[in-house]
Amino acid sequence: METNYIFVTGGVVSSLGKGIISASIGKLLQARGYKVTIQKFDPYINIDPGTLNPYEHGECYVTEDGFETDLDLGHYERFTGIHTTRNNSITTGRIYKTVIDRERHGDYLGKTIQVVPHITDEIKRRMLRENEELRIKNEEFATAREDFDFVITEVGGTIGDIESAPFMEAIRQLRWELGRKAVCVHLTYVPYLKAADELKTKPTQHSVKELQGMGIQPDILVLRTERHLDDSMRMKVASFCNVDLECVVQSEDMPSIYEVPVNMQRQGLDAAIMRKIGIPVGETPAMKPWREFLDKQRNATREVHIGLVGKYDLQDAYKSIRESLNLAGIYNDVKAKLHFVNSEEITSENVAEKLDGLQGVVICPGFGQRGIEGKIIAAEYTRIHDIPTFGICLGMQMMVIEFARNVLGYKDANSAEMRQQTQQTIPCMEGSDYHSPQEEPVNVIDLMEEQKNVTQMGGTMRLGAYDCRLVEGSKAFEAYSKSKLSTPLHTGEGQGGGSIIKERHRHRYEFNNAYKEEYEAAGMKCVGINPTANLVEIVEIPEKRWYIGTQFHPEYSSTVLHPHPLFMSFIRSCC
Ligand code: GLN
Repeated sequence: METNYIFVTGGVVSSLGKGIISASIGKLLQARGYKVTIQKFDPYINIDPGTLNPYEHGECYVTEDGFETDLDLGHYERFTGIHTTRNNSITTGRIYKTVIDRERHGDYLGKTIQVVPHITDEIKRRMLRENEELRIKNEEFATAREDFDFVITEVGGTIGDIESAPFMEAIRQLRWELGRKAVCVHLTYVPYLKAADELKTKPTQHSVKELQGMGIQPDILVLRTERHLDDSMRMKVASFCNVDLECVVQSEDMPSIYEVPVNMQRQGLDAAIMRKIGIPVGETPAMKPWREFLDKQRNATREVHIGLVGKYDLQDAYKSIRESLNLAGIYNDVKAKLHFVNSEEITSENVAEKLDGLQGVVICPGFGQRGIEGKIIAAEYTRIHDIPTFGICLGMQMMVIEFARNVLGYKDANSAEMRQQTQQTIPCMEGSDYHSPQEEPVNVIDLMEEQKNVTQMGGTMRLGAYDCRLVEGSKAFEAYSKSKLSTPLHTGEGQGGGSIIKERHRHRYEFNNAYKEEYEAAGMKCVGINPTANLVEIVEIPEKRWYIGTQFHPEYSSTVLHPHPLFMSFIRSCC
């Protein structure tokens, strides 16, 4: 089958859930046996979101091939199980960089470089994933040959934004060139006015007009609404916007985002897309595993209370962790109730109260000094009180520092990341065991060798999937080997008979191997090791119910049909 292209744009307001709709379309087409990929085009100038503060765009999601991307890629992977790559997350900055680099190289000698056609051509090339010549020249595209039945392209931002105009122009041209092989899905909002007790379609009409003004007639409209829209409403939208009635689909608020694909299927969104393209629709797929998951979700009523100890008081900052906990809860027949605990507010005096009633605690990833002392206090409290604790990346590093300070007796133990900022200020430096600053600093977490000469900030961390050998008999090993649902990524035999797993990373600092023996002797074991670099990837205290820290981010590889083994085992021990 020739590749077909689906473009997903959004109008009226942002945060309508374009990512969820794109992921749902992907899931539905995949259920029909098609090979699908989903990519996101963001209008901002940053090369990637790696250098952005989570308050800007939420979590930074990392692909297996080590690219820092938009959090929507997390939805794509969780819904469809596909493994996205650096080719699935494109920004205006990257488009411009490619064009400007080419200009400097002399590829356009004699020509004036303009938004149209040079920028729009580059956007089109990426939308079509036609990177053939680039693939040879530029290792950025050195990926396996792709032959997709459907390429779904989500464009970030809202129609009418100045910065997304070149993307719209590219879509306009592609629709013209591709004919029926291109379908445009536009997501809008139908607000409910309480005082008038009415749903309003006017913003949708305006949004479609705006799109038409740019030469794009949407084929399908998905209307986000908090109230059910009756047929007359849909008919009105259809006739005002030149869209078939069967192509006006509503996306009501759902109790869970995972209900969206079946809701879209019920309304025939996938069938409408196929009809537009001219592919025979055939039978509606049963989506049995997905529906079984939804049944489990609906039936999970018993609650388990999990604390997220972090510094970003923002739902999206820990998106993949939240979803991984939710998914693992559902598969354990419980509802994971997540409670954010601001680590900046945790003190030794209030920690008991802050963590009161929690059956498990996740110590979240992060960067920099802010809030780390609270994480360390939380890690101490949960260790002493044997509350299941999962430290992820910086969270694992804080567990390691806590253990050094309170068990190994290195009162000023820290991470080299914090060292410059903390030399004078760490509270635990007071007291009898005080190591004076003149002494060697105890960096139980240290800068990785390969990071020592890094000066550029963007894309230079240890990123993407690396091997990790699990120590047999450890809790982590048990979690991975017990998991029936785990993806092939989590299994495999390495040399020496140890089980090798592959997990994604995003960090510059590492466990300092100089202290490894001391840790192990005192009861914190290094149970996951990178076989080539000898980096510690997992620590655990076996005598505790569940006290595990991972240098990698397991949350990036948890999906709806394959919840991550570590989250599964963590939730199991919390219940
Ligand atoms: N700041 C830490 C490091 O760079 C941890 C990073 C993270 O939590 N993703 O090593």
